[in-house]
Amino acid sequence: KAKEHGRNCYQFYTAAMHEHAQARRQLEGALHKALSNQEFSIFYQPIISVDGQHIGSEALLRWHNKELGSVPPDKFIPICEELGLIITIGEWVLYQACSQAKAWCDRIQQSFFVTVNVSSIQFQRADMAQVIGRVLQETGLASHCLTIEITETVLADNSQNILHQLKTLRAMGVELAIDDFGTGYSSLSYLKRFPLSKLKIDRAFIRDLPDDLEDRALVKAIISMAGNLNLTVVAEGVETQPQLDFLRTLQCDYSQGYLHSKPIPALEFEDWLTEHVVESP
Ligand code: C2E
Ligand code: MG
Ligand code: MG
Ligand code: MG
Repeated sequence: KAKEHGRNCYQFYTAAMHEHAQARRQLEGALHKALSNQEFSIFYQPIISVDGQHIGSEALLRWHNKELGSVPPDKFIPICEELGLIITIGEWVLYQACSQAKAWCDRIQQSFFVTVNVSSIQFQRADMAQVIGRVLQETGLASHCLTIEITETVLADNSQNILHQLKTLRAMGVELAIDDFGTGYSSLSYLKRFPLSKLKIDRAFIRDLPDDLEDRALVKAIISMAGNLNLTVVAEGVETQPQLDFLRTLQCDYSQGYLHSKPIPALEFEDWLTEHVVESP
């Protein structure tokens, strides 16, 4: 009897696995065609200096497929990385975000920047800095208006190639931010070894502010360390006014999160700009 039961379990398990593999194949097949089918779009989320004087936006990739609906980036980007598709998709994101930012820079009076997430797979190609340089040239966006966001996985790849590319980008005037700071392997030596200009505190540390004593201490320490290293600090996932007030007392430079706005399509972001900035004459 037990044996029979065990066998049923086994059959059930393989059926679930089969279904899983099939769903995965469907995703992969759809992703291969997504770019040419124009299923991708970019949403923008404001990033605002605590004094309200400077603004930028993070470009966040969105995928909508007829059969699959909207698939979140945390689900499809790792697959794009595995399949190598992130190379072409990432280049498309860069181009779109830079040309969009160029139009917005021309429209408003104050400085404006766009940040683009670049995956470690993209940095494995030896000419990533040149690719970014070419996009800037073609779109006409000033290099200091572009920030490339990288995660600790990029920096953990201890190759001369990565270091060389990051240095080339900085020499071109492009800003480099370390994203999701505090969640990965967080080696503080990265901050010294790589030519970073911004540090984004992961939202996991912001969520329980201002009440959680440990998070208060951690965020305070991160901001003061970043200040001493001349890094501009951005707090991610700011959802409430008390969180922002607390960050302001610590002299955090920028905040980003639902408190200001969720990520929104380019057209909606334009309306947001109209309400929040002074237009060029
Ligand atoms: P990320 O770069 O850390 O982006 C911030 C994420 O936090 C976004 O999720 C954003 O929607 C979310 N977020 C912003 N404010 C809040 C808030 O106040 N509360 C909460 N709970 N969440 C907030 P999203 O858009 O789902 O993107 C997830 C991740 O996917 C990104 O994390 C990034 O790692 C990756 N990603 C998105 N677009 C691209 C891309 O074009 N290229 C690459 N390589 N990765 C991308
Ligand atoms: Mg990011
Ligand atoms: Mg992040
Ligand atoms: Mg992330």
